[in-house]
This record gives sequence, C-alpha cells and structure tokens, in this order.
Amino acid sequence: MVVKVLGAAAGGAFPQWNCACQQCRRLRSGAFAGQPRTQAQVAISEYGVSWTLLNASPDLRFQIEATPQLWPSGDSLHSPIRSVVITAAEADTVAGLLSLREFQPLDIYATPSVLRILREDNSLFALLNRVARQAVWKEIQPDQEFAVGALRFRPFSLAGGFPGFVTSDRRAQLDAAEAVLGLLINSPSGGSSPSGGSMAYLPGAAKVEESWREWLDECDVLLFDGTFWTEDELCRVRGGGKGASEMGHLPLSGPCGSIAALRDIKCPRKIFFHINNTNPILDESSAAYAEVLDAGWEVAQDGMEIEI
Ligand SMILES: [Zn+2]
Repeated sequence: MVVKVLGAAAGGAFPQWNCACQQCRRLRSGAFAGQPRTQAQVAISEYGVSWTLLNASPDLRFQIEATPQLWPSGDSLHSPIRSVVITAAEADTVAGLLSLREFQPLDIYATPSVLRILREDNSLFALLNRVARQAVWKEIQPDQEFAVGALRFRPFSLAGGFPGFVTSDRRAQLDAAEAVLGLLINSPSGGSSPSGGSMAYLPGAAKVEESWREWLDECDVLLFDGTFWTEDELCRVRGGGKGASEMGHLPLSGPCGSIAALRDIKCPRKIFFHINNTNPILDESSAAYAEVLDAGWEVAQDGMEIEI
C-alpha cells in the first residue's frame, strides 16, 4: 500500500489566511524553522495505479496538481482517483468534493447520517450527480468492514458530534455513532505481517480507547490527531475560543495527552497529522518538536509518502 499525505494541517491550513499568530507571522516573513502545510488530506493506493482519497479537503484541487501520481492520463477526461471515503460531514472533510464535480465517475463512501447531511440538506452536492455515470454514494457503518478494490476498511465510531451547521431538527433524526469515524485500512500485501500491511487513520480523536490497543499494536503506521499541543492553546494564542477536548481533539502534551497515552503501543511508525497552525510542533527549533521526536513520533508534512 502507498500512502500520500497531500496535506498535513488542520482546518485553516498553515499559515491560515486570517491568522497573525506568532507562527503564521514568522512563516510568512521567512523566519520560521518549518514548512507551510495545506489542509488535511490523504490518498492511498494498493499498487499506485488507482487511488482512494481519505476525505476531501478544501485544498484538494491544489493538492492533486502537486501530486503527479494523481494527474489524468490519455487525452481526454480521466482520473486515477476512483473513490473517496468520508469520515465526517465537516467543511474540512467534504468541501473538496465540489472540486471533483467535472463529470468524473467516483464512488463516495460515508455513513447514512453523513450522506443525509450532504445530499438532503446541502443541494450544492447535487453537482456530483449531473450525469448518469458520475458519483455513486455508498453507505458504510461503524464496525462493518468494506472493500475498496484490494483494500479492506474497518470503520469505527469516534467520540465527536455532527458539525455546527447541522440543524437541531436534523440532528434529532441522525445516529450520533455515525458522526465521526476512524479507519483501520488493511492491504493484502506488504507490511510487517504475512497477511499484509495496515494503517490506522484517526485525524480527530478526543481520547484513546483501551479497546484500540490490540490493533494499534498490530498496525504498521498510525496517523493520529496532532491538532493541539495543549488543551488551552487556542484560548492562549487567540485570546478566546474553545478548549481542545471540546473540539474533539486530545492534546499531545501533558500526563493525559496523546504522547503519554500512546507511549507503549508497538506500532513502528507513529505520525502526528492534522496539525493546527498554533501547534508548536510545526516549529522544528521548538522544545515541543524535540519532545515529539524523542517520544518516537514523526510530524507529517505535505508530500510525505509512506510505503506499507
Ligand atoms: Zn496562526
């Protein structure tokens, strides 16, 4: 399996267009020891021929153009992108679908609740169904495996709610367990086990469940929520805003943070992904960056390619 990190930042990207925090300012002025990053986006492929997107970021069009493996071939309409697996109905995870509207056949996988939000409440997504052979919307359920080509997906429910734009009437009709998914993706070939390689994808996790440990120990690569370094990061940097856990993100640092919670897992590659522009791990000269590396983690960057 080939995994491409097309974008490693959380919503808003780095730098964020309307943010003049110290990190965004230093990056713009060329005085920052670290890379800019686009909004979270991953593409995976079993053999590097046809590709599946994990979510569809608002930066998707630019991310595709920055990735030659995802360019069309031939002399007419074509794309090696065959499918999109959606794990939440947030703008950050679905807005990029509108950049895929040019009459391309696509399979789009999401839970029934997320599909209702997209297809019944947001008529703009009908752009993906203007002709007969365009988007095919496919229902997936937490804890029910499904296959995309040779890759097997096990979706599981994560703590977290529906986006703020979903009305209370609609919310009452939806299943909260279908709001936010994590994914365990298995490839029949490659990886450290004879049965193939696997990757866990958890861009937004409010806590680490004990029951995950077994498969976290087994998987070859973990892409984990790297949004915030501390619980009060947004409030401190911006002078207001929600706490990390209120936004569905377990902070990295401290005795209850993700570095401590995942210290003992045996997964050989642990990578922080979905990193907010306020997080000091973006600064490669910071103590936070050194601490992450010391704990055996990597910090995802745009363009990162992982072979499993
Ligand atoms: Zn900023």
